[in-house]
Amino acid sequence: MGNAEIAQTLESYAALLDLAGAGHYTVRAYRRAAELVRETPAPVADLVRAGRVRELRGIGPGIERRLQELVATGRLAELVELEREVEPGLVALARFVGLSSQRLVAVGKELGVRTADELREAAASGRLRELKGIGPSTERKILAGLSRDRTQPRRGLTLNRARALAAAIAAELDGEVAGEVRRWRDVVYELAIVTTTPPDLGRSPLLVAVLEPGVAVTVEGIPVEITVAEPHAFGTALVRATGSAEYVAALGELPDAPSEAEVYARLGLPWLPPELREAPVREAPPLVAVDDIRGDLHVHTTWSDGKASVAEMAAAAIERGYEYLAICDHTPNVRVVPGLDADALRRQAEEIAEVNERVAPFRVLRGTECDIRRDGGLDLPDDVLAELDWVQLSLHAGQREDEMRLTRKVCEAMKHPAVRCLSHPKGRIINHRPPNALNLEAVIQVALDHGVAVETNGLPDRLDLRDEEVRLCVDAGVPIVCSTDAHSVRGLGNMQLSVATARRGWATAADVVNTRPLDEILRR
Ligand SMILES: [Zn+2]
Ligand SMILES: [Zn+2]
Repeated sequence: MGNAEIAQTLESYAALLDLAGAGHYTVRAYRRAAELVRETPAPVADLVRAGRVRELRGIGPGIERRLQELVATGRLAELVELEREVEPGLVALARFVGLSSQRLVAVGKELGVRTADELREAAASGRLRELKGIGPSTERKILAGLSRDRTQPRRGLTLNRARALAAAIAAELDGEVAGEVRRWRDVVYELAIVTTTPPDLGRSPLLVAVLEPGVAVTVEGIPVEITVAEPHAFGTALVRATGSAEYVAALGELPDAPSEAEVYARLGLPWLPPELREAPVREAPPLVAVDDIRGDLHVHTTWSDGKASVAEMAAAAIERGYEYLAICDHTPNVRVVPGLDADALRRQAEEIAEVNERVAPFRVLRGTECDIRRDGGLDLPDDVLAELDWVQLSLHAGQREDEMRLTRKVCEAMKHPAVRCLSHPKGRIINHRPPNALNLEAVIQVALDHGVAVETNGLPDRLDLRDEEVRLCVDAGVPIVCSTDAHSVRGLGNMQLSVATARRGWATAADVVNTRPLDEILRR
């Protein structure tokens, strides 16, 4: 059994556990294990047989037991049982349509209905409406939902989750990821896969329902458009499926070609990075890339709410090939988690100095994620701020204030001479909190006047600033910081999300502060 197959099984097991109401951490542990197995170069089955699989970070005794069963028998008995119990197909359709899954599962059982087609039929023949509690409006909602009407409000997936899911499906279908995920959209509503092998959808553990020919639905209720292409036209299908529809339409008639590069060559156009294919664009500047990044300027440690020490974060940054890392723990005003006052920051300085002795020429920078207080003041005394290598400002409370007050407060704080960057300026949490009312034009003006950069935060549920906002800043000449806000070693990996967001905002390496060498970061 290969790594891809093991990863897929773990992934579908996680999805079913989720449906069965298992705890968040259990579900996440299996999802992470799936990713880990997929990324491991050595055959995981061999590690399992040798009793060494727990050497992989994140594999505990529970997961090891399932892996042993899987490798020995080729299946997970619990998974088969869960599939029978929770009706993943109906749950997927319920989530897709926007109904409670318990309700649709109950309806399905009552009518003996399990698929989208059968559900449509039940509605057409009036059987659906006869059920208790299903009125004409619910019936309409189900039918409209099943027709893939995009005006129906739906909940999207964060990009990191969508990327993992799309990669798992692509591996299963032996295809390539296209669509919104390939364009690195911040929230993903639909997945797209291009393959040359017609899939057997009835047997896929990840695609649990079929909406219409070529469109399946995952257990999360996310539709997946599957294009089966002839090898000689694979590139053409990939361009089409990557979209956006508007971008593809503007290309005009597409020639058949096996690779995307060839499609563009035959069109007489330069290849365009998928990140920019939202609107008709013919040519792009050389966008910033993850390899251009020389350091991360926003990470946390155990001094505040991080999970790793200064030394562990530094070691992980060195492993990534970075030259520097700014420790930016919270200040006391943040309250919900521990914050560092002047004393604590000076004690942290001693620890950082010790680490620096061991890791030179790599450099751990003394930084802070300094709260902007309610009165607009900074949450640390001036003398401490002046000692630090990297000061960034954040607003954690008061996101609901009106535009005028919020903007005035943030702009005043940005004028402090120690400030280098404004962190997650719009304060949104994807799927939970809308962006604040901060006036970005005013921020851009102050940023230009006072040499302050703005962050594009790589936490998957922030991605803040977002693409269009990055573009406004880049056009105005405000430097961008691509950072992860990592709270663990693993969190450093979100740099690719931050960089992708900056790319979607047309940022080149020259626009991004942390593509610069250490001496330029220290000089201001
Ligand atoms: Zn923050
Ligand atoms: Zn932070």
